[in-house]
Amino acid sequence: MKINEIFYSIQGEGFWHGTPMVFIRFSGCNLACPFCDTTHQSYQSLSNDEILTEINIYPSSHVCLTGGEPSLQINQEFIDLLKANGKIIHIETNGTKELPQNIDWITVSPKTETIALTKAEEIKVIFQGQNVEKWKNFDAVKHYLQPETTGDKRINRLNIRKTIKYIKDNPTWKLSIQTQKMLNIR
Ligand code: SF4
Repeated sequence: MKINEIFYSIQGEGFWHGTPMVFIRFSGCNLACPFCDTTHQSYQSLSNDEILTEINIYPSSHVCLTGGEPSLQINQEFIDLLKANGKIIHIETNGTKELPQNIDWITVSPKTETIALTKAEEIKVIFQGQNVEKWKNFDAVKHYLQPETTGDKRINRLNIRKTIKYIKDNPTWKLSIQTQKMLNIR
């Protein structure tokens, strides 16, 4: 599989924020969001066993599949291998592709009007004031809005204000913030 990087850090966003996890960042995506902060070009090709060997270096059994878009590369064999080795599998996906079975925590962050997934544990919408009504009833345990981060600090402050106001008016939603950026960690 094409892997951009594997690293050990603290989950900074959503329900599991504060939890130490091994992050497997897959290279490549089927979308091209303007706010994307992922380098899609660089990668090394690793086998399932090579990935397992690398993630086993770290003490946490939580493993987060992220990207890029991990659903473009993972398959049932890979998920079964991680489960057989005691991993608790999280995935962050744009939801445009169906996923293998037995992923423990699915975080869908839709970037398109329609997606393939119909349920997840968590939905996390990147928010800058757009209409998110259609995602309110998405079948998820947790509904998060996360202020969109841009290169412009003034717009970022505005997005935070819009997000907080929207959540206060629409309490189905909770706030997700990118604490990893505040802490200056990966
Ligand atoms: S879906 Fe995610 S990884 Fe893909 S381009 Fe958009 S922000 Fe980047």
